[in-house]
Amino acid sequence: MFAIKRELKLNNKERSLMRGIAGFKRFVYNYALSIITASWDFEDIQAGDNKRLDAIKKVLTQVTMKKPEYAWMKKYPSTVYQSAFRDLKKAFSRWREGVAEFPAKKSKKKGDSFTVYKTSGIYPEKGQPALPFTNRVVIHPGKTIQLPGLKIFRLKERIDFICSSQTFTVSRTADRWFVSFAINAQHNPPIYHPCEQVGLDLGVKCLATVSDGTCYAMPHTTKEAKTKLRKLQWRNRNKVLGNKKLGIVVSKNAKKYYIKLARDYALICNIRRDTIQKMTTDLSRRVYCIRIEDLNVAGMIANHKLASAISDNCFYEVRRQLIDKQEHYGTKVEIVDRWFPSSKMCSKCGHIQAMKLSDRVFFCQKCNQTLDRDENAAINLKNAPSKKVRSARS
Ligand SMILES: [Zn+2]
Repeated sequence: MFAIKRELKLNNKERSLMRGIAGFKRFVYNYALSIITASWDFEDIQAGDNKRLDAIKKVLTQVTMKKPEYAWMKKYPSTVYQSAFRDLKKAFSRWREGVAEFPAKKSKKKGDSFTVYKTSGIYPEKGQPALPFTNRVVIHPGKTIQLPGLKIFRLKERIDFICSSQTFTVSRTADRWFVSFAINAQHNPPIYHPCEQVGLDLGVKCLATVSDGTCYAMPHTTKEAKTKLRKLQWRNRNKVLGNKKLGIVVSKNAKKYYIKLARDYALICNIRRDTIQKMTTDLSRRVYCIRIEDLNVAGMIANHKLASAISDNCFYEVRRQLIDKQEHYGTKVEIVDRWFPSSKMCSKCGHIQAMKLSDRVFFCQKCNQTLDRDENAAINLKNAPSKKVRSARS
């Protein structure tokens, strides 16, 4: 699977259509979220999250949408609210598993996004082979794209080859709109990896340290962009930002400030994402088997001091990208058990000693080995016993 993301070239009319659809999705998501939380007060209803959400969906389509004041909902493709429910189901199951916080209400300030997909298709007769492309949209080379349930939109950058996809996600970052979709790509010929196996320690100080001694750092441009952002925020600290409850209208300069702020955030995010993409591609080309630690990200984010550093280094993102690239580059990603003492153990003699988070150097009290903390951890991950290791599913 390959993901393609392209910027859309929209005129004002199309822009407001996109905003409208995203608003519809946000409305449905928040509507269902508030009803399901309210339904927990009625203890006589015995149903799981998914069943409750299915019932709420029925209420939405059969009662709410039929009211004249909600007639505007019918303008938009039905896949939009379907995907809102799907997202909410996923958010609830992630919360139940303990890997994410309780689903929060969507806010306009956090950007816009929605998903549309092709539903109708000619289903093959029983026993007949499935017809290709029946439930997929064929995308022809060029600078336009047809979104299912919507019209044709222009793209800023062309697509060079014929491909097809079922699901399309449209999103807005700052004032730019993007469309992304996954396509089935041909298998690449097996790649020769010069290195057999490494351990990868995802650090707080450095983005990642590899057991062979290489280190991937976050570029200092992120730091510069962050300083610029802080300055912008400080200089605009007295802007009239508006308050709905008090009836204060947002000033024109504050609106300009919001746009600039969103652009600056997007810049930092882009640098970060680009760095991680380059790092994971480089590793996947070089190494056959990559071992990483199973991080209790949910637990660590709860620890507030670490939270900023972690989200900066995007542990979760690195891991996701490495796993995604497995198929394309013919690599294998292995996860080392969370309780394996990778940072407390000496990589030479196996002596285990307590390490403070502030200790940047591992000095073994038994064999006197002195090594960088992260490098020591990376070597331990590389040599972890096989019973502590499982392969990552993609
Ligand atoms: Zn030692």
